Amino acid sequence: MSDKPEKPEKKEENGDFSKPEGPVMPPSPEEMQEQLKDFFKDKFGGQVFSFSFPQPGGGETAALGEEPDEDDGKGGGVSEGGVKPRELDFDMIPVQVKDHLDSYVIGQEDAKKILSVAVCDHYNHVREVLKNTGGEQKEYVKQNVILIGPTGVGKTYLVRTLAQLIGVPFVKADITKFSETGYVGGDVDDLVRDLVRMADGDVELAECGIIFLDEIDKIATTSEPVGRDVSGRGVQTGLLKLLEETDVPARSPFDMAAQMREMMSVSRGGKKKKSTINTKNILFVVSGAFTHLSAIVEKRLSASKVGFNAPSAGENKEEDLLKKAVTRDFIEYGFEPEFIGRMPVRVALNELTEDDLFDILKHSEGSLIGQYRRNFEAYGITAAFPDDGLRAIAKLAIKENTGARGLMTVLEAGLREFKFYLPGGPVKRFAVTGEVIEDPVAMLDKIKSEPDYGRRRFFEARVREYEAGFFKEFGIKVILDGAAVDKAVSNAMEDDMDVIDYLEKVLMDYVYGLRIIRDHTGKNEFEIGAENIENPRDVLDAWVKDALKKE
Ligand code: ADP
Repeated sequence: MSDKPEKPEKKEENGDFSKPEGPVMPPSPEEMQEQLKDFFKDKFGGQVFSFSFPQPGGGETAALGEEPDEDDGKGGGVSEGGVKPRELDFDMIPVQVKDHLDSYVIGQEDAKKILSVAVCDHYNHVREVLKNTGGEQKEYVKQNVILIGPTGVGKTYLVRTLAQLIGVPFVKADITKFSETGYVGGDVDDLVRDLVRMADGDVELAECGIIFLDEIDKIATTSEPVGRDVSGRGVQTGLLKLLEETDVPARSPFDMAAQMREMMSVSRGGKKKKSTINTKNILFVVSGAFTHLSAIVEKRLSASKVGFNAPSAGENKEEDLLKKAVTRDFIEYGFEPEFIGRMPVRVALNELTEDDLFDILKHSEGSLIGQYRRNFEAYGITAAFPDDGLRAIAKLAIKENTGARGLMTVLEAGLREFKFYLPGGPVKRFAVTGEVIEDPVAMLDKIKSEPDYGRRRFFEARVREYEAGFFKEFGIKVILDGAAVDKAVSNAMEDDMDVIDYLEKVLMDYVYGLRIIRDHTGKNEFEIGAENIENPRDVLDAWVKDALKKE
């Protein structure tokens, strides 16, 4: 027996030593990502989120707080040394802003006026500040806005349209998503970082952006708690510093991806990016339905008017009451005085009426009708939307009680079958008439089985488009009566022409003739009968002669 101790067997500790020796393959980026994720999780717990590596070719998982590389040519990320801030290209007066809003937002006159003034004040101030860096800063109370109103009446639409007009980034979020600590959902600072993303990494532009917070009434302290970690007061306090002036870190401390990208960029010799976003010039708009606010206003008003001045019951409509809300009322509703004090501009929006819904469809630049037309056009199908169809949509949509959002619901339900069955079929033109909206399935069958019926309805709708086009182009109203419509439609169908082309041909001389009559008599509205279609020139001649004679 040898007393030589036995050589201990080589213990496998870390891997399989029986593998042939050679270079160890590094993990794939995905494996490495997983391993690092676990590492960070162990080290920092569950707070770390959004971990992703930059992918070759630039595709990356979007992560909060992420900015494009400074040298990608797009972003205007500013070095810490400070480059002269870009000038804000805004020089409008309130009337111009309201004019622009008018072509998108229907109704809401007060809101459009008040907001036009507020954004002009705000962005004139911001422009001056940007021009005058380092100069004396004048006192300025930021024009943060509260929009009060039910769902779907245009609160977001108004502010988004304004942001587009001014050319600043816009971010919208529901306040219920946020919590005091940031553990649930995210913290309010993320919104500011989102603005940078919306501005393609341009921090300076983001610093002039607009943040829109919906459902703000849910963080009133008297309302029901909105989540397990949410205290309304806490969120209000969190928002306070943003509303004033604070510097938000450009990268979320919990966003490892952004942190690491910055680290890697600096180690590659890249410039350090501006590390904070200042909120001084960010405009905040908050909104909510504020359901019990009108009762609070009513109580205050009647308490102050005891006796013969007291309003009689039911005298004040809810909307009128909301328009009279003052700071005290908001505080009673459950807002901190400091919070509400930083929201000096208050606007109550109106409920939309059936007429408003009709006008939205017919006149708003952003009308859904355009979207539906394009949907069908993609399949080579032309859809016409005559007024009786738009009226039927508005009538049904008002019953939904969701403001203009109801329009989408009704249109979708009305045209679903058409969107499915028409593409690829023989029907290339159809009109969304009242009948279609009221009974889409029956009307689809009818249009398919009686092509002439569908074509006739379509052509009738086109006649109305002709009239509208005539007025738009020449400022003269022509109205075809029933017999004229029938005649024009029949003739166009016979000649296999579009009825608009047909009318333009037949009534070719009318632009000049009617202009002469208008200039001599002031008459600007002309009824076109069947005889105008049959004998256009003779009738026009007689009209002109008559006008000249009268003069
Ligand atoms: P909310 O008041 O809930 O913020 P939105 O502004 O999001 O409602 O409205 C939803 C959609 O309805 C908008 O995108 C817009 O298309 C349309 N809309 C709502 N109100 C109006 C309005 N007054 N004028 C024109 N379109 C409107």
